[in-house]
Amino acid sequence: MPLEVARVPVLSDNYVWLLHDSESCETVVIDPAVAEPVLAEAGRRHWQITQIWNTHWHPDHIGGNQAIKAATGCEVTAPAAEAARIPTLDRAVAEGDIVCLGDHEACVLEVPAHTAGHIAYHLPDAGLIFVGDTLFAMGCGRLFEGTPAQMHANMQRLAKLPPDTLVYCAHEYTLANGRFALTVEPDNLALTERMAEVEALRARGIPTVPTTIALERDTNPFMRAASVEELAARRAAKDAF
Ligand code: ZN
Ligand code: FE
Repeated sequence: MPLEVARVPVLSDNYVWLLHDSESCETVVIDPAVAEPVLAEAGRRHWQITQIWNTHWHPDHIGGNQAIKAATGCEVTAPAAEAARIPTLDRAVAEGDIVCLGDHEACVLEVPAHTAGHIAYHLPDAGLIFVGDTLFAMGCGRLFEGTPAQMHANMQRLAKLPPDTLVYCAHEYTLANGRFALTVEPDNLALTERMAEVEALRARGIPTVPTTIALERDTNPFMRAASVEELAARRAAKDAF
């Protein structure tokens, strides 16, 4: 069990992820919205936080940086393109850069659209990807700083990852996303089956993240959009849903 992932649910629907390598005893926090519950969870597990990886500059992804850094002395890695908006940054990274957690390597993928410099952290050997607000279970991020063409390219690129890749999203948006997805593809059997499971899980307060690339290929209306125009129309409809 070299790598372990722990979830810290914070704010109304954010997930902060802790990724721990038991060989090097390193722990990275991905997108700490806040500090205290993250430090508490790490403390309970006797995990020493050595790094923070940010996917983008939004406050609900970097809000805990400063206090976690002050408490642990950890190093903050964040997108170079958003360095000016992430004052706690130590290491600026871009497409193709490798970030290490012990012997484990994460490749930096640039996935702009939600924000102009949004990145994801892909650990190919572990079969994990941390996607921030780019890909959600049955959804995608809002296009605050980018275009439908960029998000379409992101979706197509992520769809090519190995199907069993575990996808760690930064929010629990699955139920609302799925309800919208059903309006797009009411006859998609994989989608109706998934939604029955999601409804049951959420009724009991159980998280539906991580998801997998395979599940998203089968049920995500944005990953399944056949063209930029189709993605644009679906994104606009979801914004008004
Ligand atoms: Zn965001
Ligand atoms: Fe967010």
